[in-house]
Amino acid sequence: MYPASVTFPEGGLPAWAEVGVEPEGLRIVLKDGRENRLPFAEMVAEIGGMDANVILCRSRTEGFAVQCSAPGFADELRAHGGESLREAFAAMDRKVGSHRRARLAGGVVAALLVLGAVLLFWFTPQILAASATGLPMAVDETLGDAAMDDLEPTLGPRITDPVVQGYLDQVIARLRPHASEPDVDFRIRAVDSEEVNAFALPGGQMVVMGGLLEAAEGPEEVAGVLAHEMAHVTERHGLKGAAHGAGRWLALSLLIGDDSAWVALAGQAADVASGSAYSREQEAAADAEGARLMAAAGLDPTALARFFERLKQEPGSELTGMASWISSHPEHDERIAHVRELAATLPTAPHRPLNVDWAAVRAAAAQ
Ligand SMILES: [Zn+2]
Repeated sequence: MYPASVTFPEGGLPAWAEVGVEPEGLRIVLKDGRENRLPFAEMVAEIGGMDANVILCRSRTEGFAVQCSAPGFADELRAHGGESLREAFAAMDRKVGSHRRARLAGGVVAALLVLGAVLLFWFTPQILAASATGLPMAVDETLGDAAMDDLEPTLGPRITDPVVQGYLDQVIARLRPHASEPDVDFRIRAVDSEEVNAFALPGGQMVVMGGLLEAAEGPEEVAGVLAHEMAHVTERHGLKGAAHGAGRWLALSLLIGDDSAWVALAGQAADVASGSAYSREQEAAADAEGARLMAAAGLDPTALARFFERLKQEPGSELTGMASWISSHPEHDERIAHVRELAATLPTAPHRPLNVDWAAVRAAAAQ
């Protein structure tokens, strides 16, 4: 027997009762001991409740109804209730099933939406980096200028010797027309430092240390390094690197379109560029693009490889100890081979040497 409540056709409060399922119908025992029967032949069953757990059995002839939500009652009724009840249950099952499926599908969609939002937020820096190439170059300039403001106090004094500056401007003028981004305003300066280093900030500001000019055996080796650095700019590696380093909230606001907030990443951009914290893929891409620039400009596309090789051959030398550009650009052998392979396949303009007194450049850099 199952606990149930009974409502009567004359109205009034429902009465508590117990209900049992018998072969021909329901047996209902009220609290005061009165018994009644509801034959299946006279019964209409309805199923309700959130989980289809409330069964209402109404008498077609006498007007009273029994409501029961006890576990097991529905199953027993289904088993004994005869053909007409089974049909009613099957119809209910279909309805309930579709409701459940709809609820389940709704739940799954909601869960996926939440998961998607969480994932999106988690990956905002990566999404920002991936979408950075769609931003105007002015964004890179804003970022690079702010990064230069950060870096400037840490750099040595500028080498103002016109031989040095004239040489660097000549290199940029030769390479710039072949750059994949025509709008980049490349500006270059040499600074007095023994470090063998060079870097480019987003937007095109470039710095070459005096140590690198001294270490190079000819003007094209430095041009090879600068072409590589220019490639980091046109490939927008600095912008992407800074985006990767952005916090999720900052990345989100940048994604939403607040371009001025890029200035907040100046420190990141400065670290990425000056410390050459680029990925291996980015370095390989800059090697390839740099070699292409050199070849297109009528310069030796293997000059960078030669520079690598020579610095590598001097282990323990004073030079290697200071070679921070090289140490931040590892995998020498692989890169040398890569540059040489590429250079062999590149369409090469007739070689036009740079017009420079290299000894004078080196002497000025060494002062
Ligand atoms: Zn690099």
